[in-house]
Amino acid sequence: AVRVRFAPSPTGFLHLGGLRTALYNYLFAKKHQGSFILRLEDTDQTRLVPGAAENIEDMLEWAGIPPDESPRRGGPAGPYQQSQRLALYTQAAETLLKTGAAYRCFCSPQRLELLKREALRSHQTPRYDNRCRNLSQKQVAQRLAANPKPAIRFRLEAAAPAFEDLVHGWSRHEVVSVEGDPIILKSDGFPTYHLACVVDDHLMGISHVLRGSEWLSSTSKHLLLYQALGWQPPRFAHLPLLLNRDGSKLSKRQGDIFLEHFAAAGFLPDALLDIVTNCGSGFAENQMGRTLPELITQFDLTRITCHSALLDLQKLPEFNRLHLLRLVGSETQRHQLVEKLQALVEEAFGARLHNRDVLDPAYVERIILLRQGHICRLQDLVSPAYSYLWTRPAVGRAQLSAISEKVDEVTKRVLGLLERADLRLTQDVLNGELKRLSEGLQGTKHSIVMKLLRVALSGQLQGPPVAEMMVSLGLKEVQERIQKALS
Ligand code: GLU
Repeated sequence: AVRVRFAPSPTGFLHLGGLRTALYNYLFAKKHQGSFILRLEDTDQTRLVPGAAENIEDMLEWAGIPPDESPRRGGPAGPYQQSQRLALYTQAAETLLKTGAAYRCFCSPQRLELLKREALRSHQTPRYDNRCRNLSQKQVAQRLAANPKPAIRFRLEAAAPAFEDLVHGWSRHEVVSVEGDPIILKSDGFPTYHLACVVDDHLMGISHVLRGSEWLSSTSKHLLLYQALGWQPPRFAHLPLLLNRDGSKLSKRQGDIFLEHFAAAGFLPDALLDIVTNCGSGFAENQMGRTLPELITQFDLTRITCHSALLDLQKLPEFNRLHLLRLVGSETQRHQLVEKLQALVEEAFGARLHNRDVLDPAYVERIILLRQGHICRLQDLVSPAYSYLWTRPAVGRAQLSAISEKVDEVTKRVLGLLERADLRLTQDVLNGELKRLSEGLQGTKHSIVMKLLRVALSGQLQGPPVAEMMVSLGLKEVQERIQKALS
C-alpha cells in the first residue's frame, strides 16, 4: 500500500514551499488510494517556533489536503511527533551499537569546536576526525563511568550505495570521504534528523519518500542506516526546488509566502494548489484552473523533472479569479461566498453602512453575480473603488453645481429617463441612453453629465464606469442618491 509523509520541522509556519511538498505527497497518496501522513520533526528543540505545529496542521486543513494520520488525528503508527518517540530512536541506536555499526563518542563540545575552527582556518570543510571510533572496550567503560551519556555516532565505512531516485534517476553521493562519522543520537537523548527520519519512515511503513531535493545528497547516508539496521528502504523521489520568478530562494522572501497571509488576504486554497502545481511539473501539461480532484487524477510522478520550478506570484490574482468564478457558478458555494462577503462588508464598513439592507443576501448575491469575472478576490468588493456599493456618499448640491451650472436640467432628464417603464437596466442600454441624453442637451458635454452622475452616486471623481454603478445599485437607490444630492 502507498504510504507517504510530509515531515516538516515546526521551526516556522507553513509556507508555499511546504505546501507544494505536502500537496505532491497528498496527490500521490490519493491517486493510489494510499495514506498521507503528517509527521512533525521536532527534535531540534532549540529551533522550535511556538504555534508552528498547530499552524502547519491548521493550514493543511484550510488548504483542503488534510492528513489521514497526524499528531492531532492520531493513527495506527503514532505518535506522530518525533519528540514523543525518543525511546524508539534509542532502541535503534542501541541495536547499531551492538552490531558495531555505531559507537559512543565522548568528545567534548570544546574539542569539536576546536576541530571546526582549525578546519575553517585552513579553508577546509569541518569534519569529525572519528577519534572515538576505535576505543577499546576498556576505554569505553572508563569513559562511561565519567560521562554516562555520550553521543552516538554512525560508522560511515561502507561505500555509499547507489539508488534509483524516481525523479533524478540513478544517484549516489559519496559520504565517507566528505564527512566524519555523523552523530545519530545526541548526548541529551535526542536523535539527529538522519536517524529519526530512517527509524520513523521504517516504523510508519512509508512506501515512498517525496521530499525536497535538498535531501537528495543525504539519501545515501540514509540507505547505509537502513542497511545497518537490516531494513528495506522506501522508494525516493526528490522534488525540484521552488524558486521565486527571479530564481532566488523562496525562503528569502519576507512573510508574504506564509499560507496564513494568503488566507487572510482572501485567496482561495484551490488557487494556491493550482499555482504551485502549475509552475512545477508532474502533469502532462500546464493548465490553469484545475481543481483538487482534477489534480489527483492528472498527477503523474514520472513527469516530475529535475529542474527548479519558478513561482510567479504575480499570477496569483488571475488564478484566484478563475477559481472564484468557478465557485460563483455553484449554488451552494455561492451561498457561502455571500456569507463571506456579508462579513467582509460588515467588518470594513460596519457603522458606516448606509442601511442594513445592503447586507440583504439578495443584494449581496446580485453584486457577486454582476462582478464575477471582473474581480480577483471577494475582498476587492470592499476596496475603496467599490465602497459606493455599501455606503452612501455625503454629497451636496454645491459639489454638483461646481461641476456644471446645468445640474438641475441634467438631473431632471436623468431622473426622467430612469422613470421610463421600458428602460432595461443593463450597462449597454444605459450607456446608449445616457449618450443620447447628453446629445439632447445644448452645451453640456457627455463627460460632464457622467461626472455629475459619478459624484452624485459615489462622491468620487474616479471609480468604476457610471453605467456599471447604476446597474449595481439598482434603480431605486440611484434615484434616491440623485435626489438626495440635490437637496
Ligand atoms: N524535517 C525535514 C524538513 O523539514 C524533512 C525532510 C524529509 O522529508 O525527510 O525538511
